[in-house]
Amino acid sequence: MRIAVARETRPGETRVALVPELVGALTALGYDVVVEPGAGLGALAEDADYEAAGATVEDRAVEDADVVVSVQPLARATARRLASGSTTVSFLPAAQELDLVADLRDLRISSFAMELVPRISRAQSMDALSSQSLVAGYRCAVVAAGLLRRFLPLNMTAAGTVEPAQVVVLGAGVAGLQAIATAKRLGAVVRAYDVRPSSAEEIASMGARAIDLDLPPLEGSGGYAREMDEERARLQRELLAPHVADADALITTAAVPGRTAPLLVTRTMVEAMAPGSVVVDLAADSGGNVEGSVPGELVRVGAAQVWGGRNVPAQMPQPASRLYAQNVVNLVALMTRPATADAPATLAPDLADEVLDAACVTHDGVVRHGPTRALLE
Ligand code: NAD
Repeated sequence: MRIAVARETRPGETRVALVPELVGALTALGYDVVVEPGAGLGALAEDADYEAAGATVEDRAVEDADVVVSVQPLARATARRLASGSTTVSFLPAAQELDLVADLRDLRISSFAMELVPRISRAQSMDALSSQSLVAGYRCAVVAAGLLRRFLPLNMTAAGTVEPAQVVVLGAGVAGLQAIATAKRLGAVVRAYDVRPSSAEEIASMGARAIDLDLPPLEGSGGYAREMDEERARLQRELLAPHVADADALITTAAVPGRTAPLLVTRTMVEAMAPGSVVVDLAADSGGNVEGSVPGELVRVGAAQVWGGRNVPAQMPQPASRLYAQNVVNLVALMTRPATADAPATLAPDLADEVLDAACVTHDGVVRHGPTRALLE
């Protein structure tokens, strides 16, 4: 059984799906690990590091593989080099990758999407959305701290007292809570808002103060937020405006699964912020929480600097890859019947297992993921 680590081809992707430290976890399952040359370079892992860990480095790694792992979806040209009956594991936003999904179906390649792993306790160790959000949330707080031209903590000195920075975080999911925790550790005074009722307790557990707008909660299924209607959105913006105006740094991380990110902060709200203030919009890539934010750019809105996130986990490729790789290894382990004294390891995904059932996009010439199948019909 051969498992290949693909070299990422999408612009700006620095992560790799398997790090040298975890090669041993796959060889222990009975896999030969084969790495495309240079696959780990963006994450500072050299080919020699993989070889020292027991992998081989080959140009034709993906052609002869039973399983190909990557962070981003494979390029269509790469997918066509795979053997029929092989398996891919990657992020695969199927609705945006319909041509690739159709190819995978027609080539009879089984594909598993990391973002479709259900958020249940048993699957926590495979939850790449959470691991990458953790990295992104931390990064957002550090970016905000770096852009601010002031102290975050209270400083009482012989030359006088410097007040701590005020940080406001909107959206307190995995990324938002990590941004809160990081800004707190740096000494800022942090307030946060989320539409889910359970978030107030989670915000408090990070040492921050939950902003209560006295609006009805917006909790949908699976512990996720629901989309706001326009009236509710307008009211929320109006009530958030004074909190935004008071913030030295505003960090926004709000998302609704399957939708563009909600617009939480208008240009007018940013223009009310004091000179020197900073806005970090993690959601810039998926529609933006902040009007005027641009993915991958630092722009000026009013007197504030507005930083738009683009593939933020890739800005910390080493830890992001390490965590993602562990998620991938755990998912691959769930699909694998390990070698025994009498039989070699086999890849045998049990699609009756709720984790594999949910994560499987294509299998056996069929698109199994219902919403994607509907889009292709
Ligand atoms: P997400 O990335 O989809 O959204 C980020 C946050 O934005 C969410 O907390 C959401 O409530 C918030 N949000 C949406 N619309 C908003 C608005 N208009 N104003 C303010 N905030 C808004 O969410 P996520 O980080 O992936 O996590 C969402 C939920 O899933 C959380 O409850 C989290 O605890 C839960 N979760 C569970 C597991 C598990 O059980 N294994 C794992 C991860 C997350």
